[in-house]
Amino acid sequence: MNVVETVAGMDSARAALSGAVGLVPTMGALHDGHLSLVRKARADSDHVVVSVFVNPTQFGPQEDLQTYPRDMHRDLRLLEAEGVDIVFAPSTGEMYPPGFDEWVEVRGPLTATLEGAFRPQFFRGVTTVVARLLRIVQPHRAYFGEKDAQQLRVVRRMVREQGLPVEIVAMPTVREPDGLAMSSRNAYLSREERRAALVAPRALELAKDMVERGGEKDVARLKQAMERHIRREPLVRIDYIAVTDCETLEELAVIERPALLLLALRVGATRLIDNGLLALDRSP
Ligand code: AMP
Repeated sequence: MNVVETVAGMDSARAALSGAVGLVPTMGALHDGHLSLVRKARADSDHVVVSVFVNPTQFGPQEDLQTYPRDMHRDLRLLEAEGVDIVFAPSTGEMYPPGFDEWVEVRGPLTATLEGAFRPQFFRGVTTVVARLLRIVQPHRAYFGEKDAQQLRVVRRMVREQGLPVEIVAMPTVREPDGLAMSSRNAYLSREERRAALVAPRALELAKDMVERGGEKDVARLKQAMERHIRREPLVRIDYIAVTDCETLEELAVIERPALLLLALRVGATRLIDNGLLALDRSP
């Protein structure tokens, strides 16, 4: 496995690859969610490149850039075991050289709502770094998790707007055995908070059940039931619960077609997001 730390090094490593290349962009502190993307890339492509870069431009000033978990040795071990060809692990100076001014932004409601409303710099940072990674690595396919549902849709939109020749492949959310969505940030949770965080997958399950078995279509009633469930847990605060169109992420008041349920919670000082699909009741 080739570990490359500079853009020039990545350029020459890329030039030496023939056949289809898959890229998995990550911020490291890898878990099985990341590895599911790597395995899919491995199955689809001749060569797999994984980037490990904690991207400073997507963190707000009050956020966890300094404390974000980092463990390059462990990450490299895991990626080597998955048969990854190249790990691209650039420094901040390589990704953002002095005078850097190639910001890539998706405008409109898709980036202004939900995560965009709570983290104003976030999507501009994500689209800028992903566009730069795609231009450097030039993969045929790039892999993203449905765990970050809004990010996935923003990246797809960015790729379309920028005319980048890459297929974006989405993979389902990988969960812990008790249902909690895997996240590098789960490492922040104390034992009590880890237990409290289970209200996220449970609230999703509750809503799924109301819609898919109970035939509930009214979003206000759905949200009320979820809020009641989550509020029983004093360590947890709700940033948002939203039921939206699956593609545009526009909020819905009534569920008349499959919809996406997105939630963002704060468990102590840790911010967690999760989401799930709400299919319609198929019974007559
Ligand atoms: P991150 O390192 O958090 O930036 O995530 C890198 C990629 O892994 C993103 O495309 C995420 O959506 C994806 N990812 C993170 N957690 C999960 C998960 N639990 N299941 C599937 N994909 C995930």
